[in-house]
Amino acid sequence: MTNEDLWKAVLTEMELSLSRANFTTWFKGTSLMANSHGAIVVSVPNGFIKEWLENKFNKQIFHIIRKYEPDVREIKYAIGNMRLDANAHMPKREFVQFIPETPVREPLDEDINKSTNFNKRYSFDSFVVGPNNELAHAACYAVSKKIGNLYNPLFIYGGVGLGKTHLLQALGNAVSVEHPGKKIYYISTERLIAAIVESLKNKTTEQLKQKYHGLDVLVVDDIQFLSGKATTQDIFFSIFNELYTKNKQIVLSSDRPPSTITALEERLRSRFEGGMIADIGVPEYETRLAILSLKAKEKKFEINEESLVYIATTIQKNIRELEGALNRIIAFGQIYNKTPALKEIKQLLGTYVNGPFRKPTSQLVIKSVADFYRIPTTDLVKRSRRKEVVRPRQIAMFLLREEVRYSFPEIGAKLGGRDHSTVIHACTKIKEEELSNDTTRQELNLIKERIYQNLEVA
Ligand code: ADP
Ligand code: MG
Repeated sequence: MTNEDLWKAVLTEMELSLSRANFTTWFKGTSLMANSHGAIVVSVPNGFIKEWLENKFNKQIFHIIRKYEPDVREIKYAIGNMRLDANAHMPKREFVQFIPETPVREPLDEDINKSTNFNKRYSFDSFVVGPNNELAHAACYAVSKKIGNLYNPLFIYGGVGLGKTHLLQALGNAVSVEHPGKKIYYISTERLIAAIVESLKNKTTEQLKQKYHGLDVLVVDDIQFLSGKATTQDIFFSIFNELYTKNKQIVLSSDRPPSTITALEERLRSRFEGGMIADIGVPEYETRLAILSLKAKEKKFEINEESLVYIATTIQKNIRELEGALNRIIAFGQIYNKTPALKEIKQLLGTYVNGPFRKPTSQLVIKSVADFYRIPTTDLVKRSRRKEVVRPRQIAMFLLREEVRYSFPEIGAKLGGRDHSTVIHACTKIKEEELSNDTTRQELNLIKERIYQNLEVA
């Protein structure tokens, strides 16, 4: 096992046993630097974290490591950012939990045809058709059969992660099968802009245009990025016209309809609107479920119906996220060498459920805790030391940390001016109870239910 894999296994397991906030606080920027002669050196960003890992988590980390490497006798923590990419382990967006770098096959370079930029991984066969994408799918399919004079240009639009690139790619791959002699080319608008800028610098714009003029099918993804790029729009317009007048096929995608792309020349907008426009919407439950089953099958991953149903119900807006969730579960399965149980899946997907879109306010959390324990809110936020409020306050601290992601000092200030070590103590204590004590867990769930019910009403 490489150092990286070993540390990944530790992070994955630690993450399951900690709150998101805690995990990020203590494990961000850590990495396994060395492993030799029974001693492991873990690099940590600062002394504070070093102390915490040594005092609070060493036993647990040791236990995990020994499962993989029974010969390890000692773990040392060293301050220093020895690995520049240590943060690569951490999520880009705060609300996404640590995902082991996906061992699942990503689109590999070798799947991409270098001269056309089409990736054979994307096909119509691997695209699930539902009411949300029926029209876009039918249009792409029809165009792949009969290029140039059916729908030209074909303009597909829809939100992020809903399958636009997949459809455009599938179209191109189908064309190369149906019409092997045709010259096809896929490019993202960002790359197109870069190529045009480069050609202007090198005075090779004419050559660039000639290259595009020779195509039978031009596919340009994410055309909304043309917005505000006057020079590029100009050159693209001339390429577009040349192809269009020769009945060559143009296929475009965008995250919005042509009418709402800002700072787009009128002549381009009207060209975009002159052909066929099809949108892709958010998939409904059945489609999400079908996509998940298909992806699981593609990845040869065994997962039961109940779990698929849970994922499809939990993640609703974005297929890329749906796939990301599945990848995370697959990664978990590979590390532990078993199919994750529903309970584990729920834990793994916890962040999606209570994502930032549903983040409650501190007032709502405090009020829900107070209501639950039938005490006045003021008792929680004042410096009262009455015995009956000690525990509710600890619960409130814990929930402010977990659900609102407040820092320890912020929590202290909100709840009776406690210092941050009191807060850390409370959070750790309740966390431990949550893991070991069914009653506490139930209590927390009931309070969370209150919070999120009120959030939905709000
Ligand atoms: P967009 O370009 O709209 O942002 P993508 O085409 O990149 O989205 O799709 C994101 C991911 O979701 C891709 O992995 C794609 O294969 C998958 N996907 C989207 N729609 C479907 C679908 N209907 N069937 C199967 N996979 C899909
Ligand atoms: Mg895309």
